[in-house]
Amino acid sequence: QKGKYPERFAFYNLDLERNLRRKITLNEALKGALDRNEFRLMYQPIVNASGHVVSFEALMRWRYKGQEISPVEFIPLMEQSGRIVEAGNWVLEEACKMLAKMVQQNAEICMCVNISLIQFYDKGFVNNVNQVIERYAIPGHLLHLEVTESIFQSEQMMVNQKVSQLQQRGVKFSVDDFGTGYSSLSVIQNMNVDYIKIDRSFIQHIELKGLAIVQAVMNISQSLNFSVIAEGVETEKQRQMLEDCGIPYMQGYYFSRPLEQENALNYLKTAPEQ
Ligand code: C2E
Ligand code: CA
Ligand code: CA
Ligand code: CA
Repeated sequence: QKGKYPERFAFYNLDLERNLRRKITLNEALKGALDRNEFRLMYQPIVNASGHVVSFEALMRWRYKGQEISPVEFIPLMEQSGRIVEAGNWVLEEACKMLAKMVQQNAEICMCVNISLIQFYDKGFVNNVNQVIERYAIPGHLLHLEVTESIFQSEQMMVNQKVSQLQQRGVKFSVDDFGTGYSSLSVIQNMNVDYIKIDRSFIQHIELKGLAIVQAVMNISQSLNFSVIAEGVETEKQRQMLEDCGIPYMQGYYFSRPLEQENALNYLKTAPEQ
């Protein structure tokens, strides 16, 4: 028994150190990742009530020294260093290039792009989105920007102004991971968005407690005028329960995992007529 605790303590310290080292290494590597073309996007379909693809969500991937690093790990690092602004602009550009290709194929499919709080707050944000839309001649309404509720917590004037400036160009806004951000009801009431994405955690537990949440969001959506997307749908049971609640849009492994660009384009060609 003797000496056990100090050993354990040492073990945890080692773990912390390893974590820190990894962070430092990845941070260093992220500096040149864009220039080395290590990023790419994958595209996950969102379907409507009849199961037809209505949009793709662009999801960032990073291959570093032959390994795929999860965005759950590298996005926060880029947020801390501020590098997310440049990387986020790259994502926007790539996603719009893909969107332009789909428009050329005559597909009325939307593109959803994740926007980090830091990127949204950047002073060049609205201009940047406008420029990309113009560069690729994209109909504004096909571009959906996914933001988290956290952007609505402060500087309401500035936030609403930016949102409505882009909405005037047709761009749609979705609130991502809805229900996980501790927003008060008054904040929710002031979000002028077009879609709410119910977080996967509620869909996962829909057979237990999640159903009440899903129903509540559906009820609010009618009075506050936004549409609802359920994310992280993995099973037929979940899909059925969501359909019974009248959820108009769904996304998740049950329908499709994120696809490489080529596969996403092929998926559209083989999909049944809308
Ligand atoms: P998110 O925006 O909530 O994206 C959904 C995540 O859940 C994706 O993980 C997706 O692959 C995964 N997912 C989709 N359906 C299912 C399902 O049925 N079951 C399960 N277990 N997972 C599912 P991914 O691609 O690893 O992205 C993780 C997070 O990283 C994203 O969460 C988003 O917050 C962030 N992220 C990814 N790409 C970008 C980006 O370009 N910009 C920014 N700012 N954040 C990004
Ligand atoms: Ca998202
Ligand atoms: Ca989400
Ligand atoms: Ca999430």
